[in-house]
Amino acid sequence: MIFETHAHYDDEAFNEDREAVIKSLAAAGVETVVNIGASMDSSETTLELTRNYPFIYGTAGVHPSWTDELDEEKFQRLREIIKEPKMVAVGEIGLDYYYKEPPHEIQKKWFERQLDLAREVKLPVVIHSREAAQDTLEIMKAAKAEELGGVIHCFSYGKEMAREYLDMGFFLGVGGVLTFNNSKTLREVVKYVPMDHLVLETDSPYMAPEPNRGKRNTSANLIYVAKMMAEIKGMSPEEVIAATEKNARRLYRM
Ligand SMILES: [Zn+2]
Repeated sequence: MIFETHAHYDDEAFNEDREAVIKSLAAAGVETVVNIGASMDSSETTLELTRNYPFIYGTAGVHPSWTDELDEEKFQRLREIIKEPKMVAVGEIGLDYYYKEPPHEIQKKWFERQLDLAREVKLPVVIHSREAAQDTLEIMKAAKAEELGGVIHCFSYGKEMAREYLDMGFFLGVGGVLTFNNSKTLREVVKYVPMDHLVLETDSPYMAPEPNRGKRNTSANLIYVAKMMAEIKGMSPEEVIAATEKNARRLYRM
């Protein structure tokens, strides 16, 4: 069965029909979902989702683009949320240099603090890294992230960077981008990475794969990613789904 490792069902894009969408996933072969916190608010709403649906697990963390909202009081609340049952990782955390704000120093500070938090609560991490390859790697190495484990979500770098993360024991999250015509680099990475280090993710409501590119994404679209991965790996989609499910359970220690 399909294991969705990265979705945002608390996003406002689902305000009209959240319950219906979530309930429809089982019929699409989706058995388990990890909903990802990306801000203080969404860490709270993720916690709610884990309480309302048996098959939804959660993470809590503040995405680099929202780190300017953090202070010690909020960080303490984050520490409380992450200790709740069914919270399986700290994330998504990392660095995003695509936008100018918040300043790199703020992003780095809270990335380091949240890596420390993962160590404290003994959970893996979900990493978001965009146009910040070198700094992300340096901070993770300094924090001995290989002892934490986790996933590089929406992996967008090349083979050399993939090698670095594989050497740290990390999984790579692969989603809709794999089905895009211009995804040459990612296809090379998927070909290169051993099958036991790949997991499926949507980043719903974003990043819908072909043939639904541009529309609101849901985990029901993961079958298209699995099919493309199967083609690249010379496997059947069923084998990809089974292997990535096993990997996801190792990643989130379930
Ligand atoms: Zn995300």
